[in-house]
This record gives sequence, C-alpha cells and structure tokens, in this order.
Amino acid sequence: MVFQNLYLARTAQGTLTLENVALTEIAKQFGTPTYVYSKQAIKDNFMAYAAALEGQAHQICYAVKANSNLSILKLLAQLNAGFDIVSGGELRRVLAIGADPKKIVFSGVGKSSEEIQQALQAGIGCFNIESASELDQIAQIAAVHGLKAPVSFRVNPDVDPKTHPYISTGLKENKFGVAFDTALDLYRKAAGMMSIAVKGIDCHIGSQIIDSEPYMQALDKVLDLVEALEKEGISLYHVDLGGGLGITYKNEVPPAVQEFLQAILQRYVKRGHAHRTFMLEPGRSIVGNAGLLLMRVQVLKPGASKNFCITDAAMNDYMRPALYQSYSEIVEVQANSSPSALYDVVGPVCESGDWLGKDRSLAVAQGELLALLSAGAYGMSMASNYNSRNRAAEVMVDGSVCTLIRQRETIEDQLAAELSCL
Ligand SMILES: *Cc1c(COP(=O)(O)O)cnc(C)c1O
Repeated sequence: MVFQNLYLARTAQGTLTLENVALTEIAKQFGTPTYVYSKQAIKDNFMAYAAALEGQAHQICYAVKANSNLSILKLLAQLNAGFDIVSGGELRRVLAIGADPKKIVFSGVGKSSEEIQQALQAGIGCFNIESASELDQIAQIAAVHGLKAPVSFRVNPDVDPKTHPYISTGLKENKFGVAFDTALDLYRKAAGMMSIAVKGIDCHIGSQIIDSEPYMQALDKVLDLVEALEKEGISLYHVDLGGGLGITYKNEVPPAVQEFLQAILQRYVKRGHAHRTFMLEPGRSIVGNAGLLLMRVQVLKPGASKNFCITDAAMNDYMRPALYQSYSEIVEVQANSSPSALYDVVGPVCESGDWLGKDRSLAVAQGELLALLSAGAYGMSMASNYNSRNRAAEVMVDGSVCTLIRQRETIEDQLAAELSCL
C-alpha cells in the first residue's frame, strides 16, 4: 500500500513508523486514542504552496478550523503563514502563539459584535464580510472605536465544486458569501463608509475539491468583478481565492499544488492582476495527510451478517465518517500473517452512526493497534465529549523525537465546569 504521508513507512519487521518513530512506541508512551502528526509533512505541505507562489506577492492564510492545535499554528507561523479564522476562539488561539495580526483574515457568516470588536482591537488584516448587515455591523463598531475596519466581501461565484454537499459552499443555495450580482452595490456602499477600508475580495467554493476547473471558473468570475470595481475607481489590494484543495483519502487524485497554482497564477497574471496580493486559505491540504489517529482494538465481535472491530476511538474522536460518510484508510500498526477477515470498524459510542470504516479487511486481534490515516484535518478539531468521553491526546513527531502537543483530557477537566455549579 502506498501511504499518502511520505514519512509513514513499515520497517522490515512490519511495524508502522512515522518519521523515525514506531507507532507502537507512541501508543506505549502516550496511550490511545492519540492523534499523531509528522512535523516534516506539515512543513512540506505548506512549503509547496509557498514555493509555487514565489515571485508573486502573496499571503497563505492557513484555515485554523482544519486543525487548531497551538503547536501546529506556531509551526505554521514560523513558516510565515497567515491565518484564516472563523471565531473569536480561533482569534485567541492565533494571538496566543504570537501570530502577526496583520496576517489574520476573519471569515464566517455569523460574527458576533464581541468577536468583531476583539478582531478590530487586535488589528487583524481583513474581515471577510458575508452579508449586507455584517457590513453595517462592522462599520458601526469600527466607528464607535474610532477605527477603520479593513474588509473584503466573500462573494459567491455560484460554481459547483463537485464535492460533498455538506462541504460545498460556493453555490447559490449555500448560506455562505454575498450573491454575485449584489456584490457591486455592496462595494460601492462600503467604499463610501468612513469607518471601512475596502481591501480586497474573497471567495471559498468548498472543501475536498479534486478538480481545478471550478477554481478557474471562480477566479475568472472574481476577476470580472475586480475589473468592474476598478472601472468605478474602487481598487482592491488583494484577491483571496479561499481554500478547499482536496487530498487523497482513497483513490481521489487532486491536482498537485505546484501545477494547480501555476495554472491559476498564469491566468491571474495574464489578466493583469499581478500587482495585487494573491491570497489563499488552505486548511485540509496542509495538515490532512500529515496526521493519523492511533487506536487500539477493544473488542472483536463476530456477527451473523457482519463482524465488528470495536476500537477505543469513536465518532466523538473522528466525526467525518458519521457526518459525511467519508472514507479513511485503516491499517494494522503491526503487520502480521494471521488470516484477515472483513470488519466494520466502529467505536464504543451508543449510536449506529458511530463507525470509522466499513467492510475492511484486517488481520487483527483484541488489544492490537490500528491507524486511521489522513486524519490530520477535521479530526481533532471536530472532536467532542459525547458519551462523556475524554478527548484524545495529540503528539507531534519530529525525526526521532515525539512531543505531546495536547494532553489527553481527563474526566476532571470535563466535570470542572459543572461541579462548580452544584
Ligand atoms: C473551511 C474554510 C477554508 C479551508 O478549507 P479546506 O478545505 O480545509 O482547505 C478556507 N476558507 C474558509 C472561509 C473556510 O470556511
């Protein structure tokens, strides 16, 4: 099997290793379930974007919601990443690791007054506005504080990214962005507001996109709008094409970052926009393949029509299969010659939707370790305490060194907010 993470391999003895560390050692040291990330893979993924945009004024704003672990944010900040945030909580995270506020963009359809105020006072680079009323709200709060709010509109180019409906965001029927044909009016209005500084334009058409054509269509539509604005004397400093580039979970073939961006940039430059900063907001493609979920087989339960392999990881740890029937590879940590059988890999949570993989051929025994691959994005960041389960630990591997980057939650952590109310 070819691993999507270049730093994942099997030793001659059949033990799975990430960089130079055996996953069996990580389980021994930190327990399970544990998210494990390769530092080098995250770096490589980010640097592929940076390298492809070299020579063009650009800013890559990592989408924090994909994986918001502070150590990962700090690593990316060191590589010169900016950040795309969608809440006041994410703002606190990126400020906590010392990110440059100017490199923060704030997206989201329902920003609260409090969040807007915090972001304004932090001096973020741009608000990506998603509705007419949000423009008024931001303008009013900025005026009260005697500030000028830097803004872009997130326009909805109405292109079909051909991905799962839950993660498709650029269609007319989605809740995101402002309708394309009202954008001009909104820009005119914003340009005339004292407490607003019009900076750019933004779009984000979806996630796990494996076709570059929708991006091309979105770029063309966005640039049409930029040019129409220019004619009216409204000059934009940046064009932000959002995130959404897919990764391989099973047999998807997303475009390589280098070629993908080459084609996009070529069009961008040819249409005469090279002087504007080119921005992106990738999340999944930076961290997705860099991480895995290490888990242990709790119980093997043969059934009349199905065998179940019940692991100590569940839907509360990794929600994507339950949420959108997503596929992830699940492999034995220690390869062995025992006969394999077909299993549904499920967690112990009291929901039939609690599954991680269906009809998987595995050679496993109770107590053995499994790894669910490409779990670095929308894994830990979507974890919950359902069934009062403690959220997993997170470990970063760097060469031969493993560092705990988030302690396993304890039941005391969970109870604290309620015990104090008894
Ligand atoms: C989620 C999101 C992204 C990142 O999407 P990925 O598929 O993880 O690359 C970027 N921009 C916005 C506005 C988002 O909501």
